[in-house]
Amino acid sequence: MKVWGAHGEFCARHQWEVIVATLALLACAASVDHGSGARVQRCAGWARACPGLEAEYQAADAVVMTFVRCAALLYAYYQVSNLQKIASKYLLIIAGLFSTFASFIFTSALASLFWSELASIKDAPFLFLLVADVARGARMAKAGWCAGEDQGKRVGKALSLLGPTATLDTMLAVLLVGVGGLSGVPRLEHLCTFACLALLVDYLVFVTFYPACLSLVADFASGRKEIAPDSLFSEAELRPNPVVQRVKMIMAAGLLCVHLTSRWPWTRDSGIFEGALSDDMKPTNQDNVLFHSYVKWFSVSADYIVIATLLCALIIKFVFFEEQKNWIIDMNDMTVKEVVQNDKPVFSIGEEAKSDFCTQTDEFVDGEEVEWPVLSPSSSAAKLNAKKRSMAECLEIYRSEGVCTSLSDEEVVMLVEQSHIPMHRLETVLCDPLRGVRLRRRIVGARFQTESAIKQLSYLNYDYSRVLNACCENVIGYVGIPLGYAGPLVVDGKAYMIPMATTEGALVASTNRGAKAIGARGVTSVVEDVGMTRAPAVKLPNVVRAHECRQWLDNKENYAIIKEAFDSTSRFARLQEVHVGVDGATLYLRFRATTGDAMGMNMVSKGAENALKLLKNYFPDMEVISLSGNYCSDKKAASINWVKGRGKRVVCETIISCENLRNIFKTDAKTIARCNKIKNLSGSALAGSIGGNNAHAANMVTAIFIATGQDPAQNVTSSNCSTSMEVCGDNNEDLYVTCTMPSLEVGTVGGGTVLPAQSACLEILGVKGAGLRPAENSARLASLICATVLAGELSLMAALVNSDLVKSHMRHNRSTVNVQSVTKEEGLVLNVPKL
Ligand code: NAP
Repeated sequence: MKVWGAHGEFCARHQWEVIVATLALLACAASVDHGSGARVQRCAGWARACPGLEAEYQAADAVVMTFVRCAALLYAYYQVSNLQKIASKYLLIIAGLFSTFASFIFTSALASLFWSELASIKDAPFLFLLVADVARGARMAKAGWCAGEDQGKRVGKALSLLGPTATLDTMLAVLLVGVGGLSGVPRLEHLCTFACLALLVDYLVFVTFYPACLSLVADFASGRKEIAPDSLFSEAELRPNPVVQRVKMIMAAGLLCVHLTSRWPWTRDSGIFEGALSDDMKPTNQDNVLFHSYVKWFSVSADYIVIATLLCALIIKFVFFEEQKNWIIDMNDMTVKEVVQNDKPVFSIGEEAKSDFCTQTDEFVDGEEVEWPVLSPSSSAAKLNAKKRSMAECLEIYRSEGVCTSLSDEEVVMLVEQSHIPMHRLETVLCDPLRGVRLRRRIVGARFQTESAIKQLSYLNYDYSRVLNACCENVIGYVGIPLGYAGPLVVDGKAYMIPMATTEGALVASTNRGAKAIGARGVTSVVEDVGMTRAPAVKLPNVVRAHECRQWLDNKENYAIIKEAFDSTSRFARLQEVHVGVDGATLYLRFRATTGDAMGMNMVSKGAENALKLLKNYFPDMEVISLSGNYCSDKKAASINWVKGRGKRVVCETIISCENLRNIFKTDAKTIARCNKIKNLSGSALAGSIGGNNAHAANMVTAIFIATGQDPAQNVTSSNCSTSMEVCGDNNEDLYVTCTMPSLEVGTVGGGTVLPAQSACLEILGVKGAGLRPAENSARLASLICATVLAGELSLMAALVNSDLVKSHMRHNRSTVNVQSVTKEEGLVLNVPKL
């Protein structure tokens, strides 16, 4: 492997030398004088043989050769069709054909050393088509061209992967074709010899001339985008199958034995070809000459007709009936990109094509909006439309297969438009989330005349398989939200970068300032896993029965039965309490359970439902009004969460030194503490706020919620926060700050945490997935959120006492372009930014 690598690298690095040397050899071979001296002597057999062959052209021979030629054409067609599955159609077909063409030229030149007239080997092109491995050249081009690092290493690596297999394949093919040379049929022997020569030359070109040219072309196109090697063609794909390799070796050994026993000792006096082209080929009877000429004429004509017909049929099939892919040429990096396949979904070609398509899309169109090829009038959509099958046909295919993988985009759209496929099932019936999203965008765009708006909506480069049945339905794309970070923020002795997704300018900067003021002293936190709640509303016939039910639940043994039913629904949900609220004959059973590292809403709902089923056995007259009776209370402001807690209860504290207050916040402890009391305590009380004794906890909570895949609507309860500030220290000049958040509903497992970007943010915080102990990661996330809230609270309070708020929002939270255009054109008064 190393030798191959070094050799490939050598060819790539000394591209000009290798190319010139090879071309010089070619020129020498072509310019050899056929009629002179020793060469004539050496090739006497061949020269004698050729006229004989032409003269002795027989009908049987013609049939065999017609068959060989047809097979060659069909095989070549098959190879070219298969190339499309490897990767970029243009790059690889050109590369594959180039290597084959180059080999053919070299072979022909060498063959002319033995054949006095090239015309005598008129079957050479066909034979070459039969033996040439076009795909090998294409694979080499793909691996060598697209690999990372520098060009020399790329080609070296590609050759080290493909070289050994190529050697073995060539050996095997030469030995196999060489068997034909033992057949005793002169024409077959003649052609097999040429085939062996072609194989050897093709191989030599593949390991020398071709890598050099590849490297040269890549150098010329050095402006293109670099792509990692394994992203386009994995090493595993290139590596030969060891079993197949072993089988090939055994076959080669066997064939070698056949050759040795057949050719040794030499039975032919004047070399291997002379004997073969013996006198039995010459006409013996002058009377037969006329007959032979008729036979020859007829055979040759029939041969040409068959070959020409086959060639035309193949060309017509390829041009008009072959699966075609749409490709766009990216003028920025001069690369060819497949956008969509017209006739069939790309993935139906096979796994290789699937991964190829995915990588290409990912690599090439990162962040770019791609035109819908089938919608665009300039695309080949018209061609597809022409081939669109009828509704009945499509419906039959859909019903028989249960999926639409073999239908074209046009046909799927037709089925959706005619309500045979519900819009929300597109991903499922296509077995391809991205294609589902793409088609839905197209249908929705056309239906509501919103094409241009939808085109501006990103949808590529997203793992929709994680969205399906988990995070969103009827997906038409995704909305990008800027993600910033605040920090380092030291929490319990460890520094964190806090990811925050927001469109409110100044928020991240402000939080960052708070983190800076907290400094190395950091924030200390305590977390309590209160548990998630779900409170169904159940109605009993009368208040007495309701009271009995309540008492039944208060009994420890009964509670244990309920708990068992509840806990049985999950590996992690563990019931902690059933708190009962009463309103007449209606009971509100507030199930509270710890839920491991998940936020737990679904888990608790599932457990509560099961517990109710059991309770109904004891109270058959109980009617379940609603699984959620708003006593939970989820996503609504409610004092029950503020008082009893929900999710995680977190308390954070820190002390800000008077220096930091002065240098960073431009204020002092007394001023800021006074403002906190008047604003966050008295002001909120006057407003009748529940859980709102803070400056803007919801800002930090929501930004982190969005970044880390929490349920954003739960910012209502989660933002409950009491911010407290007191003067402290020896000189009463430092500031003691606490934030108490009794109802942070967070998880690091389930919900939106599985999405790629969101899980990356969790990873940044070191809390991705499940912790070692139940709720370890979710509790840590909760304390980080609370600590960030504390930093944000401090910074905003400082801004308020300094009257910096409007100034900083004007600087960070206003698009100059928008403000100018709005005020100028519409004469609107500038809005005062929100607090
Ligand atoms: P979930 O994704 O529905 O369930 C969590 C899953 O993770 C469970 O299957 C659980 O296993 C499994 N899991 C694996 N490891 C775990 C671990 N270490 N700790 C905890 N669970 C682990 O998530 P959820 O938190 O229950 O619900 C969150 C979703 O509910 C969010 O999408 C949210 O938007 C939505 N939501 C629902 C409601 C509602 O009323 N249902 C209300 C608000 C929000 P088990 O199967 O063994 O439990």
